[in-house]
Amino acid sequence: MRIYDIIKQKRDNGELSEEQIQEFISQYTNETITDYQASALVMAMFINGLNKKETVALTKAMMNSGEVVDLSSVNGAKVDKHSTGGVGDTTTLVLAPLVAAAGVKIAKMSGRGLGHTGGTVDKLSAIPNFKLEMDGESFLKQVNEVGIAVIGQSKNIAPADKKLYALRDVTATVENISLIASSIMSKKLAAGADGIVLDVKTGSGAFIKDLDGSIELAKAMVDIGDGMNRETIALITDMSQPLGMAIGNSLEVIEAIETLKGKGAPDLLELCLHLGANMLLIAKKASDYDEAKKILEELIANGKAIEKMAEFIAAQGGDKAVIEDYSLLPQAKNEYQVLAKENGYVQVFHSEKVGVCALNLGAGRVKIDDDINLGAGIVLNKKIGDKVEKGELLATLYTDLEDVESIISDFENALVIGNEAKEQPLILARVTADKIEKLV
Ligand code: URA
Ligand code: CA
Repeated sequence: MRIYDIIKQKRDNGELSEEQIQEFISQYTNETITDYQASALVMAMFINGLNKKETVALTKAMMNSGEVVDLSSVNGAKVDKHSTGGVGDTTTLVLAPLVAAAGVKIAKMSGRGLGHTGGTVDKLSAIPNFKLEMDGESFLKQVNEVGIAVIGQSKNIAPADKKLYALRDVTATVENISLIASSIMSKKLAAGADGIVLDVKTGSGAFIKDLDGSIELAKAMVDIGDGMNRETIALITDMSQPLGMAIGNSLEVIEAIETLKGKGAPDLLELCLHLGANMLLIAKKASDYDEAKKILEELIANGKAIEKMAEFIAAQGGDKAVIEDYSLLPQAKNEYQVLAKENGYVQVFHSEKVGVCALNLGAGRVKIDDDINLGAGIVLNKKIGDKVEKGELLATLYTDLEDVESIISDFENALVIGNEAKEQPLILARVTADKIEKLV
């Protein structure tokens, strides 16, 4: 099988066989195919598209290019969750212990943040002594005994995707639904869960900014999961403003703890209940959405959810006293208030721009091995639809920086205050293997 012929076939809009795709991925991973040949093939895929069969084959080949976690020694249903990346997206910190408290096994590998989006690994690293690395045996033992373990993603998960994603990044071939879907799903499927709930973000802070495109991406990922016998459900959720009130690592740990104590921001709680209920449905812990949601609400009300968070933190070596004493978390040196300059209602809260402000305050990184300031970030005091009066607090910025004038003006530019109140729906659609439901 010559790579030349595979490129030519896709160039001429032919369908590639599973063997051809497998051959491409294994030869590219072991470097018998050059970057220029891989670029040509990926561009042909980008332009002519991949059908469902080809997309599943690509995903499978990339998944099998490295380690595939075997969770068969873990008792009970293992369900994973993945977000396509948002601003102030605190959901995993809330969901993982919440759903584990309901008896679903959570064996999670999480990523670090990059650019305007944060990563769960960084957020957890704000907890003093919390360890994000452990060997496979300890990981499985903890999932069995505590019901939850979260570690950083191993370098050996889907190495073919890592190489190909880097190539796509510099050859203008990222924004293709099949390529994005197979890239994300190859890593998720390699993590070994029986089922997956996907949180596909849409709006200004998201990768794909329009609803129909986001539904298409969700459907492609659900179809891949289905094609590989893992039940997959996707929710399309709003990222046209940051989620919850906190953005930044320590700040989001506090926000997650407050939410598990029943005192969280309404939008963050609503999203966690929706995603969590779908995880319970996949794990067959409830027979319908309402029952699942009730189980989760009860676990927050009776304290079981926050207890599970404490148990999880302690199991990973972290200091669980942070649950009662937030001053144990890293804190920024300075804080600055941003006040409203006019009366009205918040109409736009551009999340990517707010995410960039948090990044510039020190909360994020531009390159994957940059240092971050765990205490830095933003706490919002208003969200879309809220009434504001001139002089009222819009947000507090936390940073070690002394001069934040330009960041404050960037923050002000992320916001539009107008005359009318406007609602911002949060859960926009739900996609399963056999149904697309628009919820707004
Ligand atoms: N995230 C990924 O992991 N892969 C893509 O292709 C796009 C976003
Ligand atoms: Ca948040």
